[in-house]
Amino acid sequence: MIKILAIGDFNGKFPKRLGERLKKEKFDIILSHGDFANIKQISEAFMKYGDDYKKILGRRKLDEIRVQGIKNSKLPLKKLNAFGRLVYITIGNNEVVKNKEFKELIKSFENLNLVNFKKVDLRGISIVGYPYYTLDKENDQSFLKRLDRIIRKVNPKQTIFLSHNPPYNCQLDRIPDENRQKPGEHIGSKVSEIILKKYKLPLMVCGHLEEYQGKCKIGKTLIVNPGAAYEGKAAVIEFDEEKGKVRKVRFIR
Ligand SMILES: [Zn+2]
Repeated sequence: MIKILAIGDFNGKFPKRLGERLKKEKFDIILSHGDFANIKQISEAFMKYGDDYKKILGRRKLDEIRVQGIKNSKLPLKKLNAFGRLVYITIGNNEVVKNKEFKELIKSFENLNLVNFKKVDLRGISIVGYPYYTLDKENDQSFLKRLDRIIRKVNPKQTIFLSHNPPYNCQLDRIPDENRQKPGEHIGSKVSEIILKKYKLPLMVCGHLEEYQGKCKIGKTLIVNPGAAYEGKAAVIEFDEEKGKVRKVRFIR
């Protein structure tokens, strides 16, 4: 049995209360689906103006916010590193721009590892990471091919899929009715949906839609969104690597 701490959507924060709470938890590894940087001004402008947000904020301001975002992502990264467990990370949309700087920052912490389009094998499981992409970018079939090439080399039964975005068309990728521009629309990853159905992976960890903390299923796959860390949320998942099965999910709130 392997115990996993699933945690992400930090937006530059790591509440003290969450830190204290997690000190009492036992876990073997940490999986994080990204959004370490706080680029709230950009997200808010996007929600208000849609794609016009770039024009409204202007290039210089956008760059300024993103440079600041890399700086403020350091706090949650430092906190994760300090648990003394191996941490596997895929980037969120907040780190897509300034990606190089973010990668450099990760390298400066001994326990942190980026798994964008990578797999790692440890303790009888494999972790496969898929970084954030918007649906329009995902139309490029090359992403699917890249993931296929990786997953072909692992035992799918013992593989955990880690990605910022939830898979397309489930309970965790639906924009809530009371929220934003396109209520009810599914905004998850179609590539992830295909991968889960094709390989019947037992577990996927994701986030991005910060309104949710919960789990759902696509075929054989249990999908877990541990909730937003900046709101003090996370999840501890017990995974039976021999059976390739999730035994328990406990949400921290
Ligand atoms: Zn996100």
